[in-house]
Amino acid sequence: MDVEWQNLKAQELRTLAEQNAVVVIPIASIEQHGPHLPVMTDTRLGHEIATRAARKAQASRPTVVTPVVWMGLSEHHMPFGGTLIVSHATFRAILRDLITSLIRHGFHDILISNSHGGNIIAMQQIADELSPELDATIVTTTYVTEGGEAFASLMQDQANVMHACEGETSMMMRVEPDLVDKSDLASLKSMGEDGKKFLSAGHASYRWRPFAHVTGNGIAGDPTNATVEKGEALLEAGSDAVAALITDAETWAAPQDMRGDALAGVAFRDRK
Ligand SMILES: [Zn+2]
Repeated sequence: MDVEWQNLKAQELRTLAEQNAVVVIPIASIEQHGPHLPVMTDTRLGHEIATRAARKAQASRPTVVTPVVWMGLSEHHMPFGGTLIVSHATFRAILRDLITSLIRHGFHDILISNSHGGNIIAMQQIADELSPELDATIVTTTYVTEGGEAFASLMQDQANVMHACEGETSMMMRVEPDLVDKSDLASLKSMGEDGKKFLSAGHASYRWRPFAHVTGNGIAGDPTNATVEKGEALLEAGSDAVAALITDAETWAAPQDMRGDALAGVAFRDRK
């Protein structure tokens, strides 16, 4: 069965709700990706990862993928042009409204599947905010980190996926070959020696900065050795990792409640 929400009929989606299907909401960005990749890179890759993962998961757990929420948090990319953003408040409202719609239709297990670094902290905050008040289990993931070890082992010139880099360029060469400018990839390397200082201060503290602080051409990484084969391997590793997350019963299991009788002796316990 087709895993894309927008391709299904309403009665098919009602049936999926009755089957307690997992709903994947891909979240991404429209943002500059250097001189050689289109601004939809995170949106296109997020769609590819989510739909491949859902097809793999479907055999053991019904799964459906909503359209990609392409409007993301990319203020740090604005200096390079081409970037469309929403505010944190809007981003939060969009996800709250979509999740509420899903719950009204009877879905309870919801995976926010992210493909853009700038969304990570916000999506976790949304899960923190909504989980106690809504009748749903909300899990958030970013495929690059969920696929961690496999991703690192597939990269040649980088430790993991960065931005418009060896990894993203390879994956886009696989899924949108006509939209990748491959004419001079070797000239685009921009590893950004200060990359680690991009969003940090001191030893372990945080500071926001624009992306232009670490790159002149909008790239972080080295697309020189990007290949179609590497792109396919990365997409498979990423979607394998997300599919495993979807089909792992522990992902959706109710939290433990270990309080039991141990609270009996706690002096501040509210005794009725
Ligand atoms: Zn990207």
